[in-house]
Amino acid sequence: MIPKSGHRFSEKIARQEKLTMKPAPFIRHVPRTVAEAVKILAEVAPQDGRVLAGGQSLVPIMAFRLAKPAHLVDINEIEELGKVASDGKVLAIGACVRHAAFRKPVTEGPLGALLCDVARHIAHLPIRNRGTFCGSLAHADPASEWCLVAATLGATLVARSTRGERLIAAEDFFQGIMTTALDEDELLAEVRLPLLPADAKFGFNEFNRRAGDFAMSAALVTYRLQDGNMTDVHVGVGGAEPAPRRIPEAEAALNGQAPNDKTFRAAAAAAAKAVDAMEDHQTTADYRRDLVRAVVRRALEHSTQ
Ligand SMILES: Cc1cc2nc3c(=O)[nH]c(=O)nc-3n(C[C@H](O)[C@H](O)[C@H](O)COP(=O)(O)OP(=O)(O)OC[C@H]3O[C@@H](n4cnc5c(N)ncnc54)[C@H](O)[C@@H]3O)c2cc1C
Repeated sequence: MIPKSGHRFSEKIARQEKLTMKPAPFIRHVPRTVAEAVKILAEVAPQDGRVLAGGQSLVPIMAFRLAKPAHLVDINEIEELGKVASDGKVLAIGACVRHAAFRKPVTEGPLGALLCDVARHIAHLPIRNRGTFCGSLAHADPASEWCLVAATLGATLVARSTRGERLIAAEDFFQGIMTTALDEDELLAEVRLPLLPADAKFGFNEFNRRAGDFAMSAALVTYRLQDGNMTDVHVGVGGAEPAPRRIPEAEAALNGQAPNDKTFRAAAAAAAKAVDAMEDHQTTADYRRDLVRAVVRRALEHSTQ
């Protein structure tokens, strides 16, 4: 804003500031209900209108002008989206629930503890205070911890638009690097995670070079024990391929087996072999495959501690 002072110097500075505003101009809409939000989204989506949740991914992209949305539908004033609730079968997490909400267990049993364990690996405190669980899913970074949780546990994602409600299974939702099954006029209103049984074990591990960075590879495992052997095993890997997913080859190596070093190593080797690892400026595919082996084995080891 140009100050009212007639001082030439401050006017010059202000003009420069105006000229150097980081994002491209946009109109911010602030709906108070989901119905209002999806109505606005339907109108503005064809002009690259976007949902604004925590802004922790969208705002930096806008600041670099890699995205220039003409409209933002800011959902932060919609009270009904700020809730976490359990009906005894699933944990429903609304679109405005922040990463920081999970620093303490939000539900009893292993799922609450699992979310708590994973949340502390996401970025840094200021980002966790604003960024949202559903925003991470909608953004779909391959290394996102919440995307890995959703894929491994078999979450159901609830998309809302003026056409109604659509339920999308996590395995159909993540379609590639920052690509999802959401239509441009759909709001991800809620994610539903199945509660884990009281006796479920879990383990999570990720590798990054600096604390708070996105993981170069991450693994989440859950299972139960029956007569000392593992059953109902889920092994998920993130950060290695364009989207997180369960690895059936690793699960097959564990189901019906005792949880010990030998079976853990066999499952980790199966996961490393199964992934079609990405290459980037930091790593080769071989290196990333090796990381998958390490994070799967460590996640399994953590599950017994
Ligand atoms: C330095 C830094 C480090 C980070 N490290 C990590 C990390 O280690 N792990 C990690 O997972 N994340 C990390 N992040 C990203 C952070 O977790 C974001 O909070 C998250 O990715 C997006 O959530 P958000 O609520 O901020 O979404 P926003 O930034 O508001 O939106 C992101 C995208 O999703 C869309 N969107 C958001 N919510 C919805 C919705 N409900 N329905 C439809 N579309 C929606 C937006 O339109 C936008 O395209 C990091 C970010 C920074 C800046």
